[in-house]
Amino acid sequence: MSTKNKKTHNYDYNYFVIGAGSGGVRSARIAASHGAKVGVAEGRHMGGTCVNVGCVPKKLMAYAADYNSHFEDAVGYGWNEHEPKFNWKKFLKHKNNEILRLNEIYNNMLEKAGATIYSDYAAFIDEHTLKIGDKIITSQHILISTGGKPRIPKLDGAEHMIVSDDAFYLDKLPKHIVIYGGGYIAVEFAHIFKGMGSDVTLVYRGDLFMRGFDDDIRCHLRDEMIAQGIDLRFNAEIAHIGKQADDYLVTLTDNDESVVICDCVMSAIGRVPETDNLNLPHNLVLQKSGHIEINDRYQTSIPNIYAVGDVTGRVELTPIAIKEGHWLADTLFSDIDRECINYHQIPTAVFSRPQIGTIGLSESEAKKEGFDIEIYKSTFKPMAYTLANRNERTFIKMIVDKKSRHILGLHICGLDAAEMTQGFAVAIKAGATKECFDETIGIHPTSAEEIVTLK
Ligand code: FAD
Repeated sequence: MSTKNKKTHNYDYNYFVIGAGSGGVRSARIAASHGAKVGVAEGRHMGGTCVNVGCVPKKLMAYAADYNSHFEDAVGYGWNEHEPKFNWKKFLKHKNNEILRLNEIYNNMLEKAGATIYSDYAAFIDEHTLKIGDKIITSQHILISTGGKPRIPKLDGAEHMIVSDDAFYLDKLPKHIVIYGGGYIAVEFAHIFKGMGSDVTLVYRGDLFMRGFDDDIRCHLRDEMIAQGIDLRFNAEIAHIGKQADDYLVTLTDNDESVVICDCVMSAIGRVPETDNLNLPHNLVLQKSGHIEINDRYQTSIPNIYAVGDVTGRVELTPIAIKEGHWLADTLFSDIDRECINYHQIPTAVFSRPQIGTIGLSESEAKKEGFDIEIYKSTFKPMAYTLANRNERTFIKMIVDKKSRHILGLHICGLDAAEMTQGFAVAIKAGATKECFDETIGIHPTSAEEIVTLK
């Protein structure tokens, strides 16, 4: 361990991490590998949101949902027609086994690194002291990496709603689900449940969902979702939810005050930071939103207390929480001189149907920032869908700075968009110009070759 943080008092730990999610596990493991004495408290499940009720089970569910169309498409490729049946219970069992396997890997990883794990919630007694169950411990540095939780709307009948955490463990697949919200979690679950065989109604209060994404991408996704038979209700809110036998009556505030009858209502209206259970010291400053205020070194208003990941509300993505936790552990406990994390041009994906992959500025953001821009667009049917006779189309949009020729934004909505975007993100981060893309030979036949042949 670097001499800069050697133990100066008689604390139980050099570093105590509250919350073993994406950021916490990485930070604890790296700190321990630098020789720090590390403790970790996790009140719920090892690996946090991503592993248990986020990215991982969500992607497994999206894969399961996609099989629906794979079976249909296979007929066009000469496979016999048959009627596949989806078994929710069987899927859930396989998915849960995989999550248990990952829980164990995370647990072993921390133990192997030498960290002590407490399987309980931690709360502050003072800035160096924590209560974990019936144990009291002290630590020189403390990391808050407690993530977030789903926001519940205040409406009549909200007690009937499930949130994303519950959607991973439902007793049975809904026949008809109403999803309330217009962000990435809402559209991903719309795809998941539609693919698995449920009827889906998505209710969103604005004109168009996926705020913050490029407008053309939002429109493309909307049109494709409508084509799949997903019932999109924009400019509508849920006024109240009533119960009638096994069903729910969801009354909307649209012009007709329509009522949707369903057997499951899911709230996906956003997430709030998880800080209620921490008994935070009164001098620890929070943002207006309730997220923990930090400086550019992840330090809170109390110098020995740090925060990373969703609880800070910066960029709520797993790779960001991991990078932040890693950076902090290196900076506190080693002499590794690391540059601050660059939050510019973060690639990201939405596992809707079709998928979205995106990096950089949308057209409206580029204009707002005063760039003189060139726009390149392409819409096409991916080759995989030709014999399958599927009408789903891919849309690609590139935004180029006329002056520097740099790519300001690349947005894809279509088959394999996430995988495509990851590779192109490296080139864009490295400052590739439109001409670099033009000079690159396409790989034929792929969807990605469209990106190097945009005219
Ligand atoms: P978390 O992973 O949330 O971990 C926090 C941990 O702290 C939890 O395990 C919690 O139990 C524990 N905890 C809370 N309070 C205490 C306490 N007092 N004591 C002890 N333990 C405590 N990101 C992506 O990059 N890609 C995706 O595809 C993606 N999909 C998502 C899908 C869904 C449905 C959701 C909800 C999120 C998704 N995310 C995705 C976001 C991603 O999961 C988060 O950004 C990431 O998990 C944040 O990591 P974290 O370390 O900040 O917190």
